[in-house]
This record gives sequence, C-alpha cells and structure tokens, in this order.
Amino acid sequence: MEFKLTYATMFNPPEELHIRFDSALAIVKAGLGKEYGMIINNKDVFADEKFDDHSPINKDWTLAVMQKGNEKHARQAMEAARKAFPGWSHTPWQERVRLLRKTAALIEERLFELSAAMSLEVGKNRMESLGDAQETADLLKYSCDQMEANQGYIFEMGRDPLVGFESRNVSVLRPYGVWLVISPFNFPFALTGGPTSAALVSGNTVVIKPATDTAWIVRLLAECFRDAGLPEGVLNYVSGPGSTLGKALVSCAVDGVTFTGSFDVGVKIYRDFSTCNWMHPILLELGGKNAVIVSQHADLDRAALGIVRSAFGLQGQKCSAASRVLVEAAVFDDLRARLKDITEKLVIGDPTERSVYLGPVINNSSYNDYQNFCMEIYSGGGTFLTGGQVLTEGAFAKGYFCQPTFVTDLPFSHRLWKHEMFLPITTIGKVKNLDEAMKEANNVNYGLTAGFFGSEEESGWFFDHIESGVAYANRPQGATTGAWPGFQPFGGWKASGSSGKNSGGRYYLPLYMHEQIQTRVR
Ligand code: NAP
Repeated sequence: MEFKLTYATMFNPPEELHIRFDSALAIVKAGLGKEYGMIINNKDVFADEKFDDHSPINKDWTLAVMQKGNEKHARQAMEAARKAFPGWSHTPWQERVRLLRKTAALIEERLFELSAAMSLEVGKNRMESLGDAQETADLLKYSCDQMEANQGYIFEMGRDPLVGFESRNVSVLRPYGVWLVISPFNFPFALTGGPTSAALVSGNTVVIKPATDTAWIVRLLAECFRDAGLPEGVLNYVSGPGSTLGKALVSCAVDGVTFTGSFDVGVKIYRDFSTCNWMHPILLELGGKNAVIVSQHADLDRAALGIVRSAFGLQGQKCSAASRVLVEAAVFDDLRARLKDITEKLVIGDPTERSVYLGPVINNSSYNDYQNFCMEIYSGGGTFLTGGQVLTEGAFAKGYFCQPTFVTDLPFSHRLWKHEMFLPITTIGKVKNLDEAMKEANNVNYGLTAGFFGSEEESGWFFDHIESGVAYANRPQGATTGAWPGFQPFGGWKASGSSGKNSGGRYYLPLYMHEQIQTRVR
C-alpha cells in the first residue's frame, strides 16, 4: 500500500485498509476467550490467580483470560532481566538493531490483527487502533535509526595536549541495567513499545507491566519481541494490579524506569526511588490539561474541526486531548455554533465499525467519573453545549458509552478548569484578548500539548509564550493531538513530564544510557 498511516493522515484511508481490518477483526473475534501467560525468560508463566479481560464495548465479551501476577512474579521477571543483562549489553549494537527491526517488521505483518484486538480491548476506533500499532513499529524503527545515526553513541573526543604522551579520549554511552516500563491503558502499544525499544536498543534488559485494562494487547506486543528472537530474559512481560505487582516492581532492584500514567502514581514512584542507595533515572510521562487558543483571526472551520478531533478522539482519553478551549470574544459565538454542529454529527457506537468515531470509555470507574463530573459542572454553573449524558439504550446497554460533551459558562475559578478529567468533556471559555488566553492556558500545573488557531504572526507569539512540550498552530488534523515519531516528538513540561526530552525525537535515546569517558594514555 502506498498510503502512509499517521494520526494526521488517518482521516481519509484507502479502501484496502478497511477491507483488511474487517477480515482481521473476524479472525480475532473467532478466537476470543483464550488464556495467556506472562512471559519470563521467553517462557509462558501462569499465576494461581487469573482475571477475565472484558471489553468496554460490551461487558459480556470476555476477550482473554490473563494472569494476576504477584510479588513472586515481579521478582522472577527482574531476576531474569538481571541475568540477561551482561550478554545483551555486550551484544554489538548492530545486532540489537537487527532484532528490533525484525520486531518492527513483525508488528507490521500483524498490524490488522493487533489493531482489531486493541479496538476491542481499549474501545478505540479502528483508525486510532491502526495508528497506535503503526506508531509502535515506527517508534522501534526510530530508535534503531538513532542508534545508527549516532554509530552506537561512541564518540572520539579531543586529545589532551600532553608532551611526550599520547592521550586518546572516547565518550561511550552505556546502558544502565534492568529497565522497568509501566504503561497506561490509552496507548498500550506505543507507550509500551516506544520506551521498551529505546531501552533495549541501548543495551538494557526490560520488564514491562501494562495497565490491567490492556493486559491482553500488551501480551500480543511482547509476543512480537519474543518471536523476533530476543534472547531469554532480555524482555519480560508481567500482568497484574499496579497496587501490588506494580508496587513490587518499583524497587531498587531495577536500574531505571519509564512510567507513563497519572501524575499521582508517577510522583509516588518518583518518591519511592529516592530511598535507593544511588539515583536511578526515572522518566515520567504524566497527565495533561491541554489548551487551545482561538484568535479572532482564526479560520474557524479549521479550528472547529481540529478542536473536535482532539477533544473527542479516543473519547477524550488522550493525555494530549484538547480539554480547554479559550476563544477571543469576537468569534466566540461563531466557533461555538461550529463545534456544536460537528460534534452532533459524530457517530458513537462499537468502535470496530467503520463509521464509528467514538467508542466507550475504558471502564466502570471512568464511566462513573463522567457522570459525577457532569453533575459537578451543572451545579458549578456550566452549560452543556453538547452531551452531558451517558448512553444506556439498545446497543449501548452493556458498554461504557458517554456523549461527547462541550461545556460553556463554567467560571474560570472552577476546579475542573485545572483538573485532568480524561474523558470526553471539554470546557470552552470566552476571553477578552490573546494575553488573557495565554495567562489562562499556562495557569495549570501541566504542560503537555497546546494548540493555536490564528494568523501566522500570532502563531510565533504563541510558540514563544506557551508552556508545553508539544505545540501546534492551525492544525485541523488535531488541535492538540496526533504526534508521530520523527515528526512531532512527544513529551511534556512541568507536571506532565520529568525528562524535558520528547519520545520519538533525537534526544530521547541517550536518556537510557549513562556516559563513560575512556582515556587511554600511551
Ligand atoms: P494510571 O492509573 O496512573 O496507571 C498507569 C500504570 O501504572 C498502569 O499500568 C497501572 O496499573 C500502574 N500503577 C498503578 N498504581 C501503581 C503503583 N502504585 N505502582 C506501580 N504501578 C502502578 O494511569 P492510566 O489511567 O492507565 O492512564 C491515564 C493517565 O496517563 C492520564 O493521566 C494520562 O494523561 C496519562 N498519560 C500520559 C501520557 C504522556 O505521554 N505524558 C501518555 C498517556 C497517558 P493498573 O492498571 O494495574 O492499575
């Protein structure tokens, strides 16, 4: 297929893509309900306790039976990774690159089956699911590209000006050891595969623990690594609750961690590591409360489309979702009308179906949160421009379906202007001018993504002043969402991220290695 799938190109895919997705979906659906082990030392490991993995589309659908791993499994996985580290870290980087490129090729070979499974487990629409799987293959390839472009991060430095001696200095980036990757439910593939590939290609061995809601799809990802021929213990996959298994993994027995998830859990992990004998690299990729600023000079059709896509793609459960819209008074009414019009045309339903844009939210807890937030908004003075209700009739009866919801009139002093709801709820506020909009946009702890619609000159001002790791101007494909490795490296400032370097970008890989200077004097 000529077509290159990214989150920005996915709105108009070729017919062949739909045909292949439909046939993969039929195959995946025919095989639902199987039991899957954890993977430690390349072997399936089964726990005494199991859990049924249900679809948020219909709670009666059991997708898979997964293992409820415990402290013992955490220990086993970390020991396996520790044992494999000397061999893997001394494997030439070219061979590590070869194995990871093979993994990326396997993901691409299985792209449609993987995406169908993801759509059923996460509730993402088919294009978002295909995007997540393809992005993961691209993240793996990008990690390999960076290793190659930097020739394994071995650099000749200057020679000391010694008289009578020759001093050769070489800077080498070397892996830390065992790396832990804890991922969230919303991009289970990319946010597991991306950090894992960076850690592995750098020579670390890895233990991955996915969100409990997405244990199945991450197991299918772990199989791609195993099937590509990674040696025993280099990549280990465990499943089970964050509060027990996850907590046991967050220990001084790992040398580094990439955690992607909520601020509260991330900060706890950060504190837990402070009790170790020395400092461990802790890469935290956390929440967002992403603002879109709309100037009176904006193309309002473009703005409305970009805002709706970013507010309600994946049901608002993207860390990059457009959750706040700040509009100059002169165009407030016009934009509001356009947002309402586009949103009311969105199709809600089973996200594996071609026509559907919004699927269900991830679980019962999110479903309850949606209803509670809507009540809080109502009692706080907010008006529902669209939505505000859950859907419970007919095909919606057994899933967690919520209407896409735009809110106006909520005072800026209300706590929900600052709190990440992580649901299809976006607040819209009227501002006097762009300075007021910027002040409001930056008046949150988070700093992940942001969007702007206005003139070319105003866009420069926006980039100069906005406090966020990813910023877009005049992008109808997604006002705040849709980053892609190699094009828009992804990461956050302030409470949204700890490293200051974005994944899928040129500064990312070195985060997984420490520097050694090797001086030889003759
Ligand atoms: P979460 O509740 O924080 O969970 C994230 C992961 O942490 C899951 O695997 C979870 O396992 C595990 N976990 C929970 N408690 C733990 C503990 N005490 N010790 C170790 N691990 C623990 O987040 P989520 O609901 O899955 O994802 C939503 C959040 O992720 C949002 O805040 C979103 O903005 C953020 N996010 C950020 C980015 C980014 O790049 N900045 C990207 C995507 C999402 P269980 O599922 O078993 O509890």
